[in-house]
Amino acid sequence: MTSATSRRAAIPDSADILVVGAGPAGSAAAAHAAAGGAATVLLDAAEFPRDKTCGDGLTPRAVSALRTLGMTEYLDTRPRIRGLALHGWGAVQQVPWPASQFGPFGSAVARTEFDDDLRRFALGRGAHMVSGTKAIDAERDSSGTITAVTVQRGAQRTRIRVGQVIVADGVKSSLGKQLGRQWHRDTAYGVAGRSYADSQLSDAEWMGSHLELRDAQGELLPGYGWVFPLGDGTVNVGVGALATAQRPASMALRPVLEHYAQMVTDQWQLTSGPTRITSALLPMGGAVSGVSGRNWMLIGDAAACVNPLNGEGIDYALETGRMAVDLLADSRDHTLTWPALLQREYGGAFAAARRAAGLLTMPQTVPLLGRPGIRSAALMDVVVRVMGNLLTGEDTDLIARAWRSAGSVVSRFETRPPFS
Ligand SMILES: Cc1cc2nc3c(=O)[nH]c(=O)nc-3n(C[C@H](O)[C@H](O)[C@H](O)COP(=O)(O)OP(=O)(O)OC[C@H]3O[C@@H](n4cnc5c(N)ncnc54)[C@H](O)[C@@H]3O)c2cc1C
Repeated sequence: MTSATSRRAAIPDSADILVVGAGPAGSAAAAHAAAGGAATVLLDAAEFPRDKTCGDGLTPRAVSALRTLGMTEYLDTRPRIRGLALHGWGAVQQVPWPASQFGPFGSAVARTEFDDDLRRFALGRGAHMVSGTKAIDAERDSSGTITAVTVQRGAQRTRIRVGQVIVADGVKSSLGKQLGRQWHRDTAYGVAGRSYADSQLSDAEWMGSHLELRDAQGELLPGYGWVFPLGDGTVNVGVGALATAQRPASMALRPVLEHYAQMVTDQWQLTSGPTRITSALLPMGGAVSGVSGRNWMLIGDAAACVNPLNGEGIDYALETGRMAVDLLADSRDHTLTWPALLQREYGGAFAAARRAAGLLTMPQTVPLLGRPGIRSAALMDVVVRVMGNLLTGEDTDLIARAWRSAGSVVSRFETRPPFS
């Protein structure tokens, strides 16, 4: 279906499953649901293709989730990224992705293209797309079950009667808020900006990541920079910082990003300045409560499923899309089952990662650990594994066991565990 025809698509009266939001989370959920035979409506406020502020990086975890979805052939036509080139304090370490069940490659695709491709894939699986239409309200009966969702397209308002609702409406989650979702900023969250630049090295097989980020005056900043090669003559150049309610990020992203782009110009053979600069906040590590009710679930960014140590969330968006649809088969009331499942899958790793991320917001921590750390290849291997959350329950080596233990110890002392 072309974007012109999807624009004209009629708004249906009812849906077995209504998926609100056609980012990676919503499109993955819609693809899984429609493939299982449910009458699935995928609704988005935007017309596609649309932009999304992002670094465009796909970790091996995201690539693995795309394979599970059935997009192996698609991936064959996209960049193959072998790992990270970590820079800082005068040193560089090229660290391949660790051997894991997720496979040896990452990728990078501009979100304008990636999200449109993913949503088309969901339509190919049988989902019905309604774009340019915003979900603005949910009607609930006395048991809390959503019976209908009110949507608006231009001046037209109408209701869609629903069986199940999967809310994938991103960071701000306006529908989620109406349903009671609350974001808690006392644990680490991210602020990040991205841009695009032309580069002669757009075909590189390594993602660049600078752990030592400085402003134009040479001051060390509590953040990091990245350059992700998109294989199409351009790279995504961005900067991110971690913050908490006690230590909000004070850096002005735009000048820092412009300075960073200048700093990497020779290294990445940039032939243009940074363009299309945008920024956004990133709730992380499951720092939200109210993620589900009787017949609805929040997934992806709406459920703060973003890695607190590197800000990536496309993998969790794709994974939670699948997990939510799988749960529909077993659970009649998702109020307790969905947060319990999220806890089981991500709770330990997110709890430990957000504690570590909180430490990184302290100005002395990054140089203290970074300066000696970047010189050790073995340590940087561990950093990439842990920061990328490329560990699973099946990994039994020392690092994996230590990280899991850290997760369960930290979880025990959390005043507010993830997703609660
Ligand atoms: C600067 C920056 C860099 C990042 N870099 C990376 C990276 O390199 N790799 C990575 O994995 N992650 C990265 N992330 C995180 C990543 O962008 C998100 O985790 C990911 O987009 C989450 O997908 P989603 O489907 O949950 O939400 P989104 O992609 O935000 O999709 C939500 C969709 O919902 C729609 N919507 C919203 N409200 C409504 C409504 N009421 N009705 C209908 N539709 C609605 C929106 O139009 C949108 O299409 C980055 C984030 C930022 C801010």
